Amino acid sequence: MIRQNPVMRICVSCRKTYDRKDLIKITKDHKQGIMLKNGMGRSAYICKSKKCYLDSKIIKKLQKALRTSLDTEFIDVFEKEITSYNYYPNKGI
Ligand SMILES: [Zn+2]
Repeated sequence: MIRQNPVMRICVSCRKTYDRKDLIKITKDHKQGIMLKNGMGRSAYICKSKKCYLDSKIIKKLQKALRTSLDTEFIDVFEKEITSYNYYPNKGI
């Protein structure tokens, strides 16, 4: 019997280790550029906690981790994705 160990990854914001399936993956795909949850290439992960989502430096941290710049189009998609896990009527407070 093969034991399945969870794949652990570190959140770029809080630097805590989580099971990969509990994180949102952002990948710099070799062909398609920045992708959410899919793609092959350098990846960064963010956990679904409010603290990390509201981190004002999160985009900078992602850019540093991915060694690329993120365009506003991607940031928009990313924010929609992450807010779908967290609904905060008082966002920004
Ligand atoms: Zn985090």
